[in-house]
Amino acid sequence: MKHLAEYREEIHSCSKCGLCQSVCPVYKITGNDCTVSRGMFIMLKGLIRGDLKMSRKLNRYLDLCLKCGACTKFCPSDIDVVDIIASAKAEYFKNSVREKLISFIQKNFIFSLGVNVLKNFSRNIKSKKFEKKVIYFGGCSGRIKGNRAVVKLLNSCNIEVITPDFKCCGIPFYVRGDMDNFCKFKENYLEVIQKYGIKDVVTTCASCEKTIKGFSDEISVKNIFEYIRENKLNLKLKKYKKVTFHKPCNIDNYEDIKWILDNTENLEYIEMQDYDKCCGLNGISKFNEYKIMSKIFQSKFNNIVNSGAKTVLTSCLGCEAALRFYSFAKYKVEDFTEFLEKNI
Ligand code: SF4
Ligand code: SF4
Repeated sequence: MKHLAEYREEIHSCSKCGLCQSVCPVYKITGNDCTVSRGMFIMLKGLIRGDLKMSRKLNRYLDLCLKCGACTKFCPSDIDVVDIIASAKAEYFKNSVREKLISFIQKNFIFSLGVNVLKNFSRNIKSKKFEKKVIYFGGCSGRIKGNRAVVKLLNSCNIEVITPDFKCCGIPFYVRGDMDNFCKFKENYLEVIQKYGIKDVVTTCASCEKTIKGFSDEISVKNIFEYIRENKLNLKLKKYKKVTFHKPCNIDNYEDIKWILDNTENLEYIEMQDYDKCCGLNGISKFNEYKIMSKIFQSKFNNIVNSGAKTVLTSCLGCEAALRFYSFAKYKVEDFTEFLEKNI
């Protein structure tokens, strides 16, 4: 984990072109440069030089960032704002009792709960000879949802699924700046992989995927949609359904998802406007910033409703929670993997 000062060069490579302003969902609402990468980098430069001190006000700007990465994809200097903000948050975390308390509650009461739902748990088909073996990283998502959908779909691709009991991937701790706990989750992941000796890992959650991909270059991490497309799995829904899809910021291979949406029989897919714009997940815990965040929610809500589909699919536990939070019973939110398993 790099310290903030180690990002000095990246931060200095910002040319202040301001292109990040045109894509940042928060800046579009606030119009305040301190809430977008360009302005944040100017503040962080001051912090590294010692001209500025870390403060609640500075932390507020860091917290307003949705960590959607939209600015990074657009930035001519290719600066990864999410990693830099996480390292700045770590500076604040060191001396903040409040942040430590929130992290403690998250770790001990939310993300470490063993909530496997037994009815959603299943084993590989016994009579089948599989061509490949993968480890399923369920994380919190797997603990809540079980593994039935993953096992069923991957077994159909001739893949056997091993389902160890992983803990959280640690991303909520990373973005909070709690690097000690984040490293513990990373260690847990690497220990489990080492125990099984299998280097192919599959996930169904975009945020888990992005996080665990950064844990080791020796482990291949794919999401389930890559396997489904690679194996050209013929999918047919029992009944006709019309859906739209929200693309999580952390997913890179939308083309695999699009392939499934376009090639599943009895499935009508309507691409909503701005299907790839952030859902605002990071805002649902920011009640003090609700005025700003509700505008982000409102725009996603309108795009879903205007698509005309009554079901919105996604593939990230966090996005699923955020979309549900402001659905106001106007549409149903479902995890794409579970939706497929339930309807084929
Ligand atoms: S797009 Fe990149 S280089 Fe341009 S101002 Fe934003 S952070 Fe700096
Ligand atoms: S990560 Fe998203 S919210 Fe944060 S500065 Fe970049 S575009 Fe704005």
